Amino acid sequence: MPELPEVETVRRTLIDLVAGKRIQSVTVKLPRIIQPPVEPEQFADALAGHTIQTVERRGKFLLIMLDGIVLVSHLRMEGRYSVNKADEPTALHTHVIFHFDDGTELRYKDVRQFGTMHLFKTGDHFQLPPLNKLGIEPLEPAFTLSALRERLDKRKMSIKPLLLNQEHIVGLGNIYVDEALFQARIHPERPANTLKPAEWMRLHESIRSTLASAVEAGGSSIRSYVNGQGEMGMFQHSFSVYGRKDEPCKVCSRPIKKFVVGGRGTHICENCQPAPKE
Ligand SMILES: [Zn+2]
Repeated sequence: MPELPEVETVRRTLIDLVAGKRIQSVTVKLPRIIQPPVEPEQFADALAGHTIQTVERRGKFLLIMLDGIVLVSHLRMEGRYSVNKADEPTALHTHVIFHFDDGTELRYKDVRQFGTMHLFKTGDHFQLPPLNKLGIEPLEPAFTLSALRERLDKRKMSIKPLLLNQEHIVGLGNIYVDEALFQARIHPERPANTLKPAEWMRLHESIRSTLASAVEAGGSSIRSYVNGQGEMGMFQHSFSVYGRKDEPCKVCSRPIKKFVVGGRGTHICENCQPAPKE
């Protein structure tokens, strides 16, 4: 599933491709992608004639900003955007097509069909679900050490599920939580209220640095990131623990272990990230 760095990379790619384009019409082939408050039947009419001004991001959501309206898009597992000429063949699993008046199209393809699109009047979009309860942006200046501790340091729950909860901090998913906890040398099952001041400092720094370096990697690999069909999606990044079960830890050479925390596959080095004391 795309996390903050991937969504940010899609945003940066998309902005160059669609800003300034006027939507002539919209084809919705899979109505359940379209979420309230706008009904799927009204979605196309509501967008026709509007011009895309810019593309923003909030957490893992893309915000396609038009004149007076905002399209909030979540890619979930497999959502992909591409910009094509109207006469290019349409890929299988293309569910929504935005036809521009310059003969190009923005196409949304989603094999798993879990993606969502919400349409709001500009200004309403932060008042209503899904954006109304989102937590702090980890790459913004407001994400300070004290902001992190204020949200989490009284909680008895394990640190990993707390970091995954988008109501506290946005943008982190299973991959970057594992990476950040490894860098901070914190076991994912440590109750948050047992973390020491030095550990909070390391965690704050590692959240920022893992996300920032992944955004940078995404930016530098944009060309390879848009595939032959012009689709924007996941990019391969080198991870320290994620997806490296049984491979040697990059710090101490012991094998990376995989187990389940809060229902999620979790990668750690047991040596670098000692288990909580019973
Ligand atoms: Zn290690």
